[in-house]
Amino acid sequence: MSFSSLNLDAVIVKAVAAAGYETPTPIQQQAIPAVLSGRDVMAAAQTGTGKTASFVLPILQKLSQRKPAHPRPVRALILTPTRELAAQISEQVTKYSQFLEPKLKHLVVFGGVSINPQMMGLRGGVDILTATPGRLLDLVGQNALKLNEVEILVLDEADRMLDMGFVRDIQKILALLPKVRQNLLFSATFGDDIKGLTSKLLKDPVAISVTPENTTAEKVEQQVYHVAKGQKTGTLIQLLETHQWQQVLVFMATKHEANRLTEKLNSAGISAAAIHGNKSQNARTAALSGFKNNEVRVLVASDVAARGIDIAQLPYVVNFALPRGAADYVHRIGRTGRAGMSGLAVSLVSPDEMPQLKQVEKLIGMKIPVVELAGGLTQQINDRELTIRPPRPPRGPAKPKTTDGSADKAGADRKANNNPRPGKPRTTSGSNTTGNSTNTGNGGAKPAAKQGQPKPQGQRTDNRRPNTESNHSGQRRTNKPNPGRATKGE
Ligand code: AMP
Repeated sequence: MSFSSLNLDAVIVKAVAAAGYETPTPIQQQAIPAVLSGRDVMAAAQTGTGKTASFVLPILQKLSQRKPAHPRPVRALILTPTRELAAQISEQVTKYSQFLEPKLKHLVVFGGVSINPQMMGLRGGVDILTATPGRLLDLVGQNALKLNEVEILVLDEADRMLDMGFVRDIQKILALLPKVRQNLLFSATFGDDIKGLTSKLLKDPVAISVTPENTTAEKVEQQVYHVAKGQKTGTLIQLLETHQWQQVLVFMATKHEANRLTEKLNSAGISAAAIHGNKSQNARTAALSGFKNNEVRVLVASDVAARGIDIAQLPYVVNFALPRGAADYVHRIGRTGRAGMSGLAVSLVSPDEMPQLKQVEKLIGMKIPVVELAGGLTQQINDRELTIRPPRPPRGPAKPKTTDGSADKAGADRKANNNPRPGKPRTTSGSNTTGNSTNTGNGGAKPAAKQGQPKPQGQRTDNRRPNTESNHSGQRRTNKPNPGRATKGE
């Protein structure tokens, strides 16, 4: 099946081809015709299935078929739980709408950054607005926009929005929308809360399910390493170095542990950055873009912050600690093996985590293969023996709390953000973003081969530093945290 057979306009098909996609993914095959026909949609789909394009492409087509009124009212509203996801949806809107004439205007708004540029951006109106719920309501409260002409509403990652406590905000937003509209709801899971929401929101929806609930992406190879609690950092460093893994997303149990691990990795000469709810939006954006550009090799994340991370061909996910809820394991490893690519998900499991491992295995219906720490990996490193450069004593008076609720984010970010070692060329993973059936990364490679001989890699030749705030010694700082209200939940 091709994109043009889905009745998409030639300019949209051209943009999809420019993105490198050849074949619509299963969710795209089902959702695009349903959205084009004007039906409500209820889709069970995880991130990584191509779900964003499944609603963005037909929305672009529908909106471009009619001239907007003047000033432009918001005609499509896309609600998402996290800032990162909002930003990534917006990137996709830009990508897929690039050849449309006349252009559609779109804007992304989220908390944690100043509201003023967003208010300016709304002047004159926008056709498509992607928003986190809290900031959207702030903007409505400030009369920066009206939602009474919304024709299409998308609730993306609806389960996560409810998990994060956005239910009231969503209800308030629904009350601002016209009664007659098209509703598209995407959710990885369909628990009772979501079922309640869908029954109120959706009228005779087309139900689509592309990934059976709680199954792990087929292309993700999973492995467990049994490691003593105090030896996880050393083990991770050895795995990174032995197998030369690049672009590794590491999940931590707490924000504090994420900061600690980031410091240790940077001290060991492995460029790492932390991304979690206590970081300023600018620090998070810088960490994510450094990671996407291969300037940051390891992104150390909390569950919520990692939720919206979309990087084509993210090859490695490491569970430094298993998540508290087994369903989160599925979400975490869904970061890799996306849109037909292959991936490796490694869990470092200490003896006290065995009950969680059992729960995960029960949920996914399989036993995860255990890999012995051998072949050059000396297991006996105690994390205590890993030295960390002590942070410099603070200069000047203590900074006040930032408005998004975190204590001195700049200081915390300075400590936790990284700088790769200058002068050390580093390999990078391929930047090809195509997802066709012939380009499956290292799919089909045997586990050992996959670890030991990662995908063909380019050499980094420059010594660019990531656009993060500074190194440990606080020498450099390019991004100032931007005061502003944070969105709820992050
Ligand atoms: P999503 O599930 O929307 O987060 O998309 C996951 C990734 O798949 C994104 O990086 C998209 O750019 C990519 N993608 C979306 N549609 C396709 C397609 N038809 N073929 C290959 N990759 C795709």
